Amino acid sequence: MTTVADPASVARYQQFIDGRWVDSVSGEQFERRSPYDGRVVATYPNSGIEDAQKAIEAARRVFDQGAWANSAAAERARILRRAADLVLERADALTTCLANEVGKPKTMAMVEVTGTAEVFQYFAAKALDLKGETITQQLPDAVGLVVHEPVGVVGIITPWNFPLLLISWKIGPAIAAGCTMVAKPSHFTPGSTLLLAGILAEAGLPDGVFNVVTSETDNGALVGQHIAASELVDKVAFTGSTASGKAVMRAAANNVKKVSLELGGKSPNIIMPDAPLEAAVAGAFFGIYLNSGQVCQAGSRLLVAKPIKDQFVGQLVSMGAMLKMGNPLDPTTTMGPVINESQLKKIEGYLDAGKREAKLLSGGSRATDGDLARGLFVQPTIFDEVSNTATIAREEIFGPVLSVLAFEDLDEALRTANDTMYGLAAAVWTRDLNTAFKAAKGLRAGTVWVNAYHGTGLQGMPYGGYKQSGLGRELGSAGLEEYLETKSIQIKLL
Ligand code: NAD
Repeated sequence: MTTVADPASVARYQQFIDGRWVDSVSGEQFERRSPYDGRVVATYPNSGIEDAQKAIEAARRVFDQGAWANSAAAERARILRRAADLVLERADALTTCLANEVGKPKTMAMVEVTGTAEVFQYFAAKALDLKGETITQQLPDAVGLVVHEPVGVVGIITPWNFPLLLISWKIGPAIAAGCTMVAKPSHFTPGSTLLLAGILAEAGLPDGVFNVVTSETDNGALVGQHIAASELVDKVAFTGSTASGKAVMRAAANNVKKVSLELGGKSPNIIMPDAPLEAAVAGAFFGIYLNSGQVCQAGSRLLVAKPIKDQFVGQLVSMGAMLKMGNPLDPTTTMGPVINESQLKKIEGYLDAGKREAKLLSGGSRATDGDLARGLFVQPTIFDEVSNTATIAREEIFGPVLSVLAFEDLDEALRTANDTMYGLAAAVWTRDLNTAFKAAKGLRAGTVWVNAYHGTGLQGMPYGGYKQSGLGRELGSAGLEEYLETKSIQIKLL
């Protein structure tokens, strides 16, 4: 049984394998402490390879039986639509779980919940639109059909920063296509994935289609590697750091399985002299401080045109006062703690580097006022006069730390923006159409926003990284194709 957290109680979870709630084979458990106040918020089974193997075998058996893989698209669409409704109905339990485990403000967690419901609705529609091609006019005595089929068993490995939304990007297309799945969420935040398993079962997903194993730190990488290397798994969909993504890709080579990777970033946010200033300041602010900066696509390098740089940065610093750090369950809180002690230490290391490499404008240390001392809070920080060769401009900090760089013209801005090993996202703010298109074309990133950051509300756009930010795409038609094989059927007419 999975029990849902009332904000003050400890949620006790089991994992979900072959349609049943079970403990780990070893009987071991692990716990999650809130990064806000250190209290235990949940316990989960600590699984090892034996548990993962059971989940993989269940997913393999159900896929190979064929009933699910060949089910009516209308049935898979119905399950996704029902799951979307249930996600919204369970919003309170899901947002409480996200606030407790991730530490993100409950109000912000709601964005993950509505986003997840929208992703399921979107892929419900895509399921109904699956089709291939026919080739009939090429030869007098041959007909060709290009058909798409589910890729098979999908291993899903997810991080802790948006644990619900990011897994929906994988579950949605996998169900639409007719795949089966084994998911291993981050050991910091398994709760929402387990709640989702219950929701999907209630929505009518057959036993064994979606399986979840939960594992503590070391086992997490071990189980992740086991899934990525397994010969019974046909594809692995991974979101996490670039270093872990490389390890997943190496393991996946074992049986040449399909791989999609959503990895890290150091995204540039370019402010041209003719930018709509008020919106651009708000965009830059939201671009770095959303989720305490723990966002793969965070606008962590702010490139501002020299003539407006001081004014722009001045406004950004004043906006800092608007952030209210505190209890994630308090509806007035707008910024939560960072995820864990080691992330806090890592960020503090970058704050020290920043003080050596650049000019500190605001923040610069752990936040310890009053109740914040109990939690893992970091002051929203801005460094000015940062060189693009500085550590804080090159490495993904994954915290509320902004590096400001000045530029003379668009060409210099684009050169600096692209001078990174990453290529996940980028933005440009300008009122000039020519500048907007020139920048959008010149930026080497999987997503480019013009006069927006973190999105515009558009649905169905593919998401993924250039360079070391990833491989493959999620969402949109491209996101569905990652879960489909392509078969050419050639028919000789007699
Ligand atoms: P992480 O790489 O430490 O862990 C991600 C997942 O991989 C976890 O479930 C973990 O247990 C598992 N894992 C770790 N080592 C593994 C291995 N060797 N083999 C298989 N699995 C392994 O990442 P994190 O700290 O949880 O998340 C933060 C990172 O994720 C950041 O780098 C961020 O940029 C990235 N991220 C990317 C996107 C995107 O869409 N591009 C979205 C969110 C987060």
